[in-house]
Amino acid sequence: MEKIVKKGETDVASLSWDAIFQVKEGRKKLGEQMPVEVYRMFEYSLRATLTQMYGKESMIKAFRTAGEMAGREFYKRNLDGDLMLNDFLAQIQQKLLEYNFGLLRVEKFDVQTGHAVLTVSEDLDCSGLPVSGETVCNYDEGFIAGILNAYTKKEYVVTEIDCWATGDTVCRFDAKVKE
Ligand SMILES: [Zn+2]
Repeated sequence: MEKIVKKGETDVASLSWDAIFQVKEGRKKLGEQMPVEVYRMFEYSLRATLTQMYGKESMIKAFRTAGEMAGREFYKRNLDGDLMLNDFLAQIQQKLLEYNFGLLRVEKFDVQTGHAVLTVSEDLDCSGLPVSGETVCNYDEGFIAGILNAYTKKEYVVTEIDCWATGDTVCRFDAKVKE
């Protein structure tokens, strides 16, 4: 049956988000968990393929855009936008821990400008990777931007400034409101 996507609803490869989240039903024996290696195989093979096909810049853009889409959906499903900033940040931290995404810490959040600096340790995407000199958590950049955008209603540009892949032990994200 053809799926009709309503206006304003994000079309994820012609499936709805609800359909994608029906994991319990489809994986009665295997359940909802899987090894991080599987996630990383998917992520890094896709990075390599997109780079080969469209170049590195487009690959990064694709990961950021996808992350942002997912971040907004994560906000809708898991976060309470009515919370005051500090409680909201604590809730993100708790949810990212619950989902084994990573350990979030808010180093700075300037309420005047919206500028934030966040760190994620044991990040799902990169923790343990060899040093390549380049940050790799572009999906997370988008994911954080998507959450902050949904909460503040402002457009965010998030840049990873430290990463396991640049020799750091945490990923550090600089989040600025787009001018
Ligand atoms: Zn990283």
